[in-house]
Amino acid sequence: MTNPVVAIVGRPNVGKSTLFNRIAGQRISIVEDTPGVTRDRIYAHGEWLGKNFNLIDTGGIEMSDQPLLTQIRQQAEIAIDEADVIVLVVDTESGVTDADEQVARILYRSNKPVVLAVNKVDNPERRSDIYDFYSLGLGEPYPVSSVHGVGLGDLLDAVIHNFPENAANETDDSIRFSLIGRPNVGKSSLVNAILGENRVIVSNVAGTTRDAINTRFKATDGQEFTMIDTAGIRKQGKIYENTERYALMRAMRAIDDSNVVLVVLNAEEGIREIDKHIAGYAHEAGCGVIIVVNKWDTIENRDHRTMTDFTNLIRHEFQYLSYAPIIFVSAKTKQRLNKLPEMIEEVNAHHERRIKSSVLNNVIMDAIAANPTPTQNGKRLRIFYATQVATAPPTFVVFVNDPELMHFSYERYLENQIRQAFDFSGTPLHLIKRQRQ
Ligand code: GDP
Ligand code: GDP
Repeated sequence: MTNPVVAIVGRPNVGKSTLFNRIAGQRISIVEDTPGVTRDRIYAHGEWLGKNFNLIDTGGIEMSDQPLLTQIRQQAEIAIDEADVIVLVVDTESGVTDADEQVARILYRSNKPVVLAVNKVDNPERRSDIYDFYSLGLGEPYPVSSVHGVGLGDLLDAVIHNFPENAANETDDSIRFSLIGRPNVGKSSLVNAILGENRVIVSNVAGTTRDAINTRFKATDGQEFTMIDTAGIRKQGKIYENTERYALMRAMRAIDDSNVVLVVLNAEEGIREIDKHIAGYAHEAGCGVIIVVNKWDTIENRDHRTMTDFTNLIRHEFQYLSYAPIIFVSAKTKQRLNKLPEMIEEVNAHHERRIKSSVLNNVIMDAIAANPTPTQNGKRLRIFYATQVATAPPTFVVFVNDPELMHFSYERYLENQIRQAFDFSGTPLHLIKRQRQ
């Protein structure tokens, strides 16, 4: 089920990103290993008292060529569109400013729950300054010091108190997938084309408080899919709609909600930096991934070489996605679109595949026999046993004498051997090395 969304808004320099990082805590972590992924996050997971939520820092969605007030207003609009609960951050050092009042007014009219955080209350003496902020009309101000991590408990209590009641969990055994990509690659055209391919639409499930439209349909073989439509819910005419940071935030939300993610590229324009960021998040999240090259109709005089060249380019630019199958399509001419459901189904099956320990260990032992484990300072890596502990993505624990001795290259080798023995195309594999007691 999708988690509630909390958006942080406020004018520049009040401490939004500091607060964001505090709340997200160590959960912002693994990115460093994925090339091309930015470190400054605008979207993260948070947890308080066992409740999980997703957190957006609207301050990170820059509309840099806009005047300050327009930017702030747009960030507030994004928060209203995206979030279940909004945290408005103000700053005790500067007191109530015009900009604070403007944002407060927009938020007030939205009828979304707003929690007011007064930041930079670093010492108890400053606590008395917070009462001025009652004038914003948003209720009780919560004093916090994001730098020191003080006051966050009360703030988060108030936030989760405002979460919507959980809708009754509908049973859903459909395959959930989404199309992600930067603006203009053709996501909405693909959504429409896929739905247009004479499938039985089962239902349109409106998202909870947000206006996501998830379409459930049945493919010709009877398999049900839920398409998480991030493209169709664009805010037509709103300026932020076509910014790359907004696209990135959208993509991250769709990824969270999907079993399989279709990373859409534009054949006409080639690969851009933002494509890599978006794909990097899909990889990091551990979803099944398919790379969809759209607008293939625009490539003139194409032959088998064109496709091979483009494939090589993708393999080079997205090295961490070496497991993802690539398909060349056109939303316009519908070329190869009929192959997509089958492909998604297959990738999903691999994503959920479970291998019996006995079979897995035969493969591991054969791998060791063919390519003996490395030694370091006279000490040899010993692998005792491997077992799959999870699916989606398939996760294996390998018990060894000393995890330090298992270098990346040998880990890679094992992963490749596993992939050769079992079809895991489209899904990342996680290998965890653990010292045997
Ligand atoms: P944003 O523009 O709203 O995202 O603000 P930042 O998080 O970048 O913070 C702006 C400045 O305020 C930085 O120099 C922070 O170190 C500082 N800051 C953030 N939180 C606190 C706080 O709780 N106390 C104090 N004294 N400074 C803070
Ligand atoms: P989105 O921003 O990713 O949702 O992209 P859209 O679906 O709005 O498409 C952006 C533009 O590309 C529109 O003008 C589409 O008509 C065009 N487009 C989308 N798919 C194709 C395609 O397969 N071939 C061609 N030639 N144009 C396409």
